[in-house]
Amino acid sequence: MTESAPILPPTADALAAAGRALAAGRLVAFPTETVYGLGADATNDHAVAAVFATKGRPRFNPLIVHFAEPDAARGETDFDDRADALARAFWPGPLTLVLPRRAESRIALLASAGLDTLAVRVPRHPVAQALLTRCERPLAAPSANVSGKISPTTAAHVADSLGGKVAMILDGGACSVGVESTVVDLTGDKPRLLRPGGITEEQLAAVVGPLATVSTSAGDEARPSPGMLASHYAPDLPLRLDAGTLRSGEALLAFGPQPLPGAAAVANLSPSGDLTEAAANLFAMLRTLDRPGLTGIAAMPVPDHGLGRAINDRLRRAAARRSG
Ligand code: AMP
Ligand code: MG
Repeated sequence: MTESAPILPPTADALAAAGRALAAGRLVAFPTETVYGLGADATNDHAVAAVFATKGRPRFNPLIVHFAEPDAARGETDFDDRADALARAFWPGPLTLVLPRRAESRIALLASAGLDTLAVRVPRHPVAQALLTRCERPLAAPSANVSGKISPTTAAHVADSLGGKVAMILDGGACSVGVESTVVDLTGDKPRLLRPGGITEEQLAAVVGPLATVSTSAGDEARPSPGMLASHYAPDLPLRLDAGTLRSGEALLAFGPQPLPGAAAVANLSPSGDLTEAAANLFAMLRTLDRPGLTGIAAMPVPDHGLGRAINDRLRRAAARRSG
């Protein structure tokens, strides 16, 4: 068994060590006012891929990106008046805003699961604040639990489930809010509540007026769960899965040491066959291959275990929803 990570009180030394670990692409669990987060450098595709691997998420759900202060979040997204008003009222705090992602954003494509939107938040917990300030980079941080399990609200909860998989756990005591942040989508005409949480609908409505809610009676297909969002990135070119040969003019999304010969263009998710590396490259490579002059994208098979399941899930959905 892997040795469990140290649980450290948030001293200056511990915060400095956490900053170094994050800069090196490792994961650090830290407290926020809502729940403990599994933090990774949001600008590092490999670190973000490690988050998905560590949580055992079967899908690439987009992650919330945490910033030390509102201006840092503004630099990555397009703020409008509503975002300004909500940020002024509730940041730092348990509110996440989904906003258009800036074209020049440095945030890893995998953090937003290939979407052209970004979920951003400025947490108010002093340890989260200290860490974000200290490490000088935004942190992608979903709840620090194995996928499908209950969110952790103490350092001990984190140690129980992910202790062997993180560089360290910063201990900030029990989380005061204890439920996840409220998620508000500001990419449409009307603000929409995607997830109820630490800030109530009444509090939000007092600032931006009534919110559209997402019908929970709607079937999975109709729900804007992140993987189903209409804006979810799908290539314009047809995508063909489990390709064993190439057709004329096709680009190849390869995996492993033996890419199929004869492609009009090639991007290899991982020449060594490493699934974490493949996940880190997935969205950027799909975009690279999705260009005029090619007839389609043929994807070589990716093993369907570990992160391969999330990769295959995303590829299947990209293949199924042809724009056009
Ligand atoms: P977690 O990181 O586990 O707290 O969950 C993140 C939540 O934020 C999920 O419910 C996602 O649906 C939501 N979310 C994150 N990014 C986006 C986005 N770009 N668009 C819509 N929802 C998002
Ligand atoms: Mg969670």
